[in-house]
Amino acid sequence: MIVTYDCHTARKYKNNKKTSYVENIFNEFPIFEEIVVKQMKVYKNIPALIEKTGAIKRKGLKIGFIPTMGALHKGHLSLINCSQIDNPVTVVSIFVNPTQFNNPVDLQKYPRELDNDIALLDTILNQNDLVFTPDEKTIYPKPDNRIFNFGTLDKTMEGKHRPGHFNGVAQAVSRLFSIIKPDKAYFGAKDFQQVAIIKNLIKQLNLPVEIISCPIIRESDGLALSSRNKLLSTEQRKAAAEISSVLFQALEYSTGHSVIETKNMVIRTVNSNPLLNVEYFEIVDPETFLPVSKWDEIPECRGCIAVIVGKVRLIDNIKLSVR
Ligand code: AMP
Repeated sequence: MIVTYDCHTARKYKNNKKTSYVENIFNEFPIFEEIVVKQMKVYKNIPALIEKTGAIKRKGLKIGFIPTMGALHKGHLSLINCSQIDNPVTVVSIFVNPTQFNNPVDLQKYPRELDNDIALLDTILNQNDLVFTPDEKTIYPKPDNRIFNFGTLDKTMEGKHRPGHFNGVAQAVSRLFSIIKPDKAYFGAKDFQQVAIIKNLIKQLNLPVEIISCPIIRESDGLALSSRNKLLSTEQRKAAAEISSVLFQALEYSTGHSVIETKNMVIRTVNSNPLLNVEYFEIVDPETFLPVSKWDEIPECRGCIAVIVGKVRLIDNIKLSVR
């Protein structure tokens, strides 16, 4: 059964109810397996989606996939653009994955804007493209107890400061890959360590998916776009621009200073803004994610930062010391 989604009704609906319009259609009318928006089709359940992707594969068409947690912005849209250039069919998933949140308050506060997301996707996706909006039971019909071993890749930075985060990411992404069976999957370099984890994951699981890393999309003042930016106050938002600005300074500073001096400069300068608190700034080898002590140890390093702004945690990174 198919139902047509009407963005106008969705907007009116949003004013009255807590759940989104699209969720409500699926919940109240389980008979509807797919919702047709003006351009793309939206699926909540696995069987209808698999039927559709199976038909696509049988026609020999390649599928590009972008996993997201919603509250979509131009960073997500850039990944979709990359997929649309490479593939005749693009699948976008929207799933706030609970197993990757080590902090329950963070999970609870994470922005959820499904109706806005659907309306935005409708402006960019094509008729062949699909959106998958599963709920938690669909992705985890029973608890996922798998523990992945990523060697050194998750021992620093996000892996160290968010225990269990990458294991949760791997659980959700591997599950999504097994449902959608994409030919290529697109991830943002903003989550630089995550891209390495996913590349390692597909090796471990021997999955035939090509992982494409896409550039960081920034606001005009340099702040990396993030769904979490919506949680910042006006003052915090202004202060947050300092993060990328100091990373860009570090690029120049690093040419005349040591690794440790560069590290200290970044931490000191960001922390000098009373609204910003550096959780870590590490200069690492992008192959092992272990900290480097000298620029000439490897051809290229990454400077990766996490900053607490009020109750919001932002991350960013920059390529350093290309010699
Ligand atoms: P999320 O919804 O935060 O899980 O992000 C979904 C995908 O979008 C991930 O691959 C992110 O790395 C990517 N992404 C998020 N923000 C940006 C950005 N500013 N530029 C490029 N990609 C991004």
